[in-house]
Amino acid sequence: EQLANQIAAGEVVERPASVVKELVENSLDAGGSRIQVQVEGSGTRLIRVVDDGIGMDSDDVLLCLERHATSKLFSEDQLAAIATLGFRGEALPSIGSVSRMTILSRPRTADMGTRAEMRYGILHAIHEDGCRQGTVIEVRGLFGNVPARRKFLKSARTELYHIEEVLRDQALAHPGVGFVLQVEGRTVLDLQPGEDLETRVRQIYQVQDQLLPVSFQENTGLGLELEGYLLESGTSQSRVRRLRILVNNRPVQDRMLLHGVREGMRESLMTGQQPAGVLLLHLPPDQVDVNVHPAKREIRFRRSQEVHRLLVRGIREAVARFQD
Ligand code: ADP
Ligand code: MG
Repeated sequence: EQLANQIAAGEVVERPASVVKELVENSLDAGGSRIQVQVEGSGTRLIRVVDDGIGMDSDDVLLCLERHATSKLFSEDQLAAIATLGFRGEALPSIGSVSRMTILSRPRTADMGTRAEMRYGILHAIHEDGCRQGTVIEVRGLFGNVPARRKFLKSARTELYHIEEVLRDQALAHPGVGFVLQVEGRTVLDLQPGEDLETRVRQIYQVQDQLLPVSFQENTGLGLELEGYLLESGTSQSRVRRLRILVNNRPVQDRMLLHGVREGMRESLMTGQQPAGVLLLHLPPDQVDVNVHPAKREIRFRRSQEVHRLLVRGIREAVARFQD
């Protein structure tokens, strides 16, 4: 059981940013409207995620520490299967197997909350505790029991950059949700709840000038929807001011999509520039396979050429409207 958790952890908990991603996704799933992330020691000393979502009662807390998948893992095949199984119901046990993790949670209906402490895969304590509605998860000493993993982490700056990127992507995918990121006690990102996408884009990209709004719906074929704002990348090759494409709210890196955007923008005045900004692509779930690898940014489309064609069209129409 513990071994299985560690193996799963190796698959998906690649670096501190992966922990942040999983915890923030859970907070979003729980309907949190304000999510606060605190990080110390570039995430290896502490990652704390606080949300005001639905919370968990004591049964839920116990359950979420258990692996939903099979407990015995010995053959090569089963190992391979883990990668494809993805992270469904595995995030918390996996993170808990490579850290000292504390969960503190209270649903609205309960007077008291529950605190559970897990140390490198072993449940250490669970008891009642007072807390606000919602969930606080603290992860300390990440990879303390996996020195090899720890050794492969990059510089503090790089690990922090990846953490910030997780927050920026999620903040763009969920403009209505408030996000705060604090690094060593310093607030580096402070986004209010209830913002719209344009406000969010301006906050994150730090732009005052004009944005090119993209809005496209196609109901006769794939059912593809496109929304977003494009801008000029600026002169500096900014690592923040770049193009982000999210498919069904999931950040992806895909050459076909990138090509589609470039192609669509060919006639625009923003020539000679790398496109930057954010594009949210929505497709019926059966048109995409996001489980190529749960932690990676790969994606597969059932009808990739069609997606490309519609993307080009959507961007072209936006450019034409903009230049009118
Ligand atoms: P998954 O998200 O795939 O279900 P996780 O291991 O990430 O698996 O989480 C397990 C379960 O724990 C979730 O399904 C959810 O019920 C509960 N949970 C985790 N984080 C939170 C949270 N922040 N608020 C409420 N429930 C949570
Ligand atoms: Mg999860």
